[in-house]
Amino acid sequence: MSSTIVSPAAETPAAGAAPETCTIKLLPQDQWTAAAQQATAINPANGVARHMLQQAMPDIVIPVEHLALLTAKYWGKGGVRLTVSFLDNPPSDLRARILSHMNAWNATANVQFVETASNGQVRIARTPGSGYWSYLGTDILSIPSGQATMNLDSFSMSTGDSEFHRVVRHETGHTLGFPHEHMRSQIVARIDREKAIAYFMATQGWSRDQVIAQVLTPLDNSALIATAQADPTSIMCYWLPASIMADGVAVTGGTDINALDAQFASSVYPKFANWQELDNNPATVDIAAGGGNLYQMHNDGRIWKYTGTPLTGWLELDNNPATKKIVAAGANLYQLHNTGRIWRYTGVPHTGWLELDNNPATVDIAAAGNDLYQLHHDGRIWKYTGTPHTGWLELDNNPATKKITAGAGTVYQIHNTGLIWKYVGPPHTGWQELDNNPASVDILAAGNDLYQLHNTGRIWKYTGVPLTGWQELDNNPRTKAIAAGNGTLYQIHNTGDIWKYVGPPLTGWQQIDGNAASARITAADFSLYQLHNSGLIWRYTG
Ligand SMILES: [Zn+2]
Repeated sequence: MSSTIVSPAAETPAAGAAPETCTIKLLPQDQWTAAAQQATAINPANGVARHMLQQAMPDIVIPVEHLALLTAKYWGKGGVRLTVSFLDNPPSDLRARILSHMNAWNATANVQFVETASNGQVRIARTPGSGYWSYLGTDILSIPSGQATMNLDSFSMSTGDSEFHRVVRHETGHTLGFPHEHMRSQIVARIDREKAIAYFMATQGWSRDQVIAQVLTPLDNSALIATAQADPTSIMCYWLPASIMADGVAVTGGTDINALDAQFASSVYPKFANWQELDNNPATVDIAAGGGNLYQMHNDGRIWKYTGTPLTGWLELDNNPATKKIVAAGANLYQLHNTGRIWRYTGVPHTGWLELDNNPATVDIAAAGNDLYQLHHDGRIWKYTGTPHTGWLELDNNPATKKITAGAGTVYQIHNTGLIWKYVGPPHTGWQELDNNPASVDILAAGNDLYQLHNTGRIWKYTGVPLTGWQELDNNPRTKAIAAGNGTLYQIHNTGDIWKYVGPPLTGWQQIDGNAASARITAADFSLYQLHNSGLIWRYTG
């Protein structure tokens, strides 16, 4: 929903017109320290803000209850599986309806609520007059069995669907450990304190202290693993009327899980946890891998090698704005300039680049093991034989050639008509036709394997018999690219979803990530990497 300025008529809602709001229930104060210890034991990251404060101010004696309140209550990266029971025997259709809204968080996050007959970890009551509330995250484990951890005041099958979206999803957010978004200091700073106290005392029946605790005490941003900006349309944000805001602009509040909520939930409880972040630089536009090494290229031509420490362990190898592509194969790294120049890295950053060729006609290079090939804009293919500049052997000369890919000891080409050819020697005449399908738009060689991708998303593997020996591995219109390393094939969809082929054909694909920011994947040896359009680089560890 958009952020709107509430009209003057809506600034002072009639009695009962204000949406019923929510309370985050706090445990009794004598349980705060034990609950904080429990939260940190379940998920060590919950204690980070508290440790940061203690390190920043080692000489300050902070009351132990205050330290306890700095502890987050998230369930941990492993995800959330909680059982849910009801304390007042609602009909089965209402139970199912509530569960379905709780599980709405599962769309992007590794979160699952499962109904159980009694003694669930989440215990829902509908006590009239008690309001909407939940305890926060792991705090629910401290509530004695038989008592509610969440109240959905008077909810029934006649309650409107919009209230299920607004209230059930919001209270479930608290059970997942999410605090109130309006408690972010950017929003609290906009509230007129005395007007807010009067308003919530009148509309919610709260005491002055309750209003201060629930509405006017900003969260320490460091206590959140949250987005940089407060989000006034978050499902975790209250509706705050214009009449209590110092700037007279209402906070519209959330009515459903929005895109930022969904993204935040997926970062706290990732569905696919087997990815390690290696770098985070918006300038990164390409990655290349080979021989156990990983390289990245920036939009200003800089080339970096990963030395093994995430984020900080990158060594700059070159800094040339003319660089347009990097290719890694075995222990070798090559770069291609937009002038056609080809260079091989010899091991000394910046100065240790050996020029192998300098031909403006060169548009692409491909490498495998110690073999290097170049493709000219007129379709000519050349193999490097070991002598810079003069040591290039022409293998073919066909204007229809649009791409080459290098495999173990050989090179393949695909024509703009879809024809696929393998080089078996000798030059020019020694090309074997492997397929002839106008739908084929890409080829990929990895070791002894060769794959083709159709413009319909179909993926085929070559089994060794020209023309007829292609096995269909998948048929999905969303497929936009494939990557392969050491016998394993991966595909990325135009949605960012990444899949690994585990066999059998067509059905044997395992989803290993689902992030719309994923732009490309590259594989080499036993490793798979992905690059986000924001420059983040990740290694698959599954
Ligand atoms: Zn709330």
